[in-house]
Amino acid sequence: MVKYKVTVNRSLCIACGVAPALCPKVFELGSDNGKNKVVDTYSIKLTDEVSVGVVPEELYQCVKGAADSCPVNAIVVEELRD
Ligand code: SF4
Repeated sequence: MVKYKVTVNRSLCIACGVAPALCPKVFELGSDNGKNKVVDTYSIKLTDEVSVGVVPEELYQCVKGAADSCPVNAIVVEELRD
């Protein structure tokens, strides 16, 4: 089964809100520093500087669309195979 690793560089994020608007199932602006993060459901790591998550295949278009629309290229999506 294909899954996708999603990495948000929160140091780069300018909290524009595009990622949570385009893909609210995966992204939200954190209550910690106001920057984008992967929601708890899919999160595997969260710091001030980075948020990492793993999402199922059906959310690929969602996270890819947000990554492609991020004005500072703060979101990276990578395929994971097990
Ligand atoms: S689109 Fe980019 S800059 Fe905007 S909230 Fe998402 S990660 Fe941050």
